[in-house]
Amino acid sequence: MRYANIRAHLNLSKEGLMRRFLVAGNWKMHGSSEMTADLISGVARRAFDAASLSEKRALAYDILVCPPAPFLVQAVHDADAQYISVGAQNVSQYDSGAYTGEVSLAMLAEVGCEYVLIGHSERREIFGESDQVIAQKFAACVGFGSEVIPLLCIGETLSQRKSGDTEKVVAAQLDAVLNEVGIEGFAKAVIAYEPVWAIGTGETASPEQAQEVHAFIRNKLRGLDKPIAEKIQILYGGSVKPANAEELFAQEDIDGGLIGGASLKVDSFAGICEVAQRLSHDRV
Ligand code: PEP
Repeated sequence: MRYANIRAHLNLSKEGLMRRFLVAGNWKMHGSSEMTADLISGVARRAFDAASLSEKRALAYDILVCPPAPFLVQAVHDADAQYISVGAQNVSQYDSGAYTGEVSLAMLAEVGCEYVLIGHSERREIFGESDQVIAQKFAACVGFGSEVIPLLCIGETLSQRKSGDTEKVVAAQLDAVLNEVGIEGFAKAVIAYEPVWAIGTGETASPEQAQEVHAFIRNKLRGLDKPIAEKIQILYGGSVKPANAEELFAQEDIDGGLIGGASLKVDSFAGICEVAQRLSHDRV
């Protein structure tokens, strides 16, 4: 396990008091070998410059990139010296066997992936992943000792929000996983609240709307286990850009972002990382 992530897993700031920010890029089905190299080196350079750090010292927050599967090995290699973590966008719920096209947790761990996205709304909507399948994938991560940390995505559609069902939907998505792994399964996990209506649409939840749901999620977990609830990073996802990251990340229960479109360019992703760097000082 690399240094940046030892701190991330313990989720301690330098002083050991507060949740660290995590800025995670979900490249979706975009990228190339060249982009992987350029993006990782460009973001690392900007991040370390902004923090006035040499590359051998740790940032005050954590950076994660989730490229498409064919570029994971290269990304781990390119990111290694830079203290950027690499995650996959999906994983099988099965250990091994006749599952054409699937990739197992052991495979991800073997190539150095430290995180995996579970239950992204595109997997739910386009590929029909049910709450149950998502819970099984999460449970597989927990069964694997969370060596590959599950980053669970939850969030409501526009019609669900309009009908006042946001909390009900988010609670049901969480319950599906809690029923499978219990609250202990969240001891080494990350949650991303991603309102579906804000993903890739340019629409963002207002900081107040996002904070309200983040607080709801944390309170729900608090009712089950206070230390786990206080420690878990809850990221916001949905059209985060450098221009809106600051007001979102300034919210008490928002611990960084899961970034789609803006994670594909050095300038915008590094700009969001710089916000995390600045705000980290207020969190210690
Ligand atoms: C996402 O894909 O998880 C996402 C939040 O995308 P975007 O930032 O483009 O809305």
